[in-house]
Amino acid sequence: MRVARHDQLASLQRDLAASAARLSVSQTELHRLRRALDALPVGVVLVDDHGQVQVRNTAASAYEGHGRVLVWEAVERHLRRAVTGRSSGQLLELFGPPRTSLQIDAVPLRDGGALATIEDVSERARVDRVRTDFVANISHELKTPVGAMAVLAEALAEADEPEIVERLAARISAEAHRAARTIDDLLELSRIELGGPALREAVDVDTVVAEAVERTATAAEHREVSVRRAGTPGLSVWGDARQLTSAVANLVDNAVKYSEDGAEVVVAARAEDRTVLVEVIDHGIGIPATDLDRVFERFYRVDQARSRATGGTGLGLSIVRHVAANHAGRVTVVSREGEGSTFTIHLPAFDE
Ligand code: ADP
Repeated sequence: MRVARHDQLASLQRDLAASAARLSVSQTELHRLRRALDALPVGVVLVDDHGQVQVRNTAASAYEGHGRVLVWEAVERHLRRAVTGRSSGQLLELFGPPRTSLQIDAVPLRDGGALATIEDVSERARVDRVRTDFVANISHELKTPVGAMAVLAEALAEADEPEIVERLAARISAEAHRAARTIDDLLELSRIELGGPALREAVDVDTVVAEAVERTATAAEHREVSVRRAGTPGLSVWGDARQLTSAVANLVDNAVKYSEDGAEVVVAARAEDRTVLVEVIDHGIGIPATDLDRVFERFYRVDQARSRATGGTGLGLSIVRHVAANHAGRVTVVSREGEGSTFTIHLPAFDE
């Protein structure tokens, strides 16, 4: 009897030890699983069949709390539905700033309960938006010169007077150049929008300004506009020299374009606290107050006819705005119709 009880006890102990071993293995595995879940960039929430949260990984916890009420409400709503056996999901747009797009999905689990995932798809959504806009803009903006070229070419085919032939050919050439400039600017803009700042290094402001002025020299000479450099020499900013040169060149190009023949344009750099300001000042036609907010939009022109006559693409200031944003900076404008404009790019100063 005693022996039997002893045997029973021993067997029980063995079972217990085996269970304990199994338990400790599964504890380790659980721990590892938990660490893996926490390492995921996607938020994961697991609830039981009463909707009680069982597991919430680190990424999901980041969506809790202040300012994230909308996210958590959406997750709970989809989980409630998934617990009843129906998959549910949505793309949640938070207008920010920063603008954020979250894909929230919840699926029922076979043994009861439900699983929700929260994925930040902002970058994908942004690239999609840029691409869609790009295609829409390109087709709209290229239709005009291409349509004009077709009409002009038909007229050319029927013209026999040399003067008319010459005039039509010159117009075809102008339209072709306009289309080419639009393509160049669109490519530059989409490269800047998609790429963000490729480099982050000390950029010498004097070199950027000198190169920008050089790039616009032909147009300035043609109009006898003098471009004077002023301000503090030797300043440096954080950024990408190529993008910055493109931005300043666009501002100088506009200042020349929208000034009278023989006028003066000033490009001045100066430091203010930890910011470097690059100002492009003209005394040209200026911008009406009602248009000031909108000039940075793609293809926005105050005066279509004038912009067309000066060969504008309507993209220059969008490029400037994107470059400034890529550099954690901004661009501002002060302008008065008939008196002139000052465009200023504000950039973070390079500090060693
Ligand atoms: P565009 O190629 O037409 O010059 P931008 O994007 O560079 O396109 O500028 C948008 C519009 O803003 C221009 O069409 C013009 O009406 C106005 N604008 C820009 N810069 C100036 C300036 N320095 N003076 C007056 N108007 C300007």
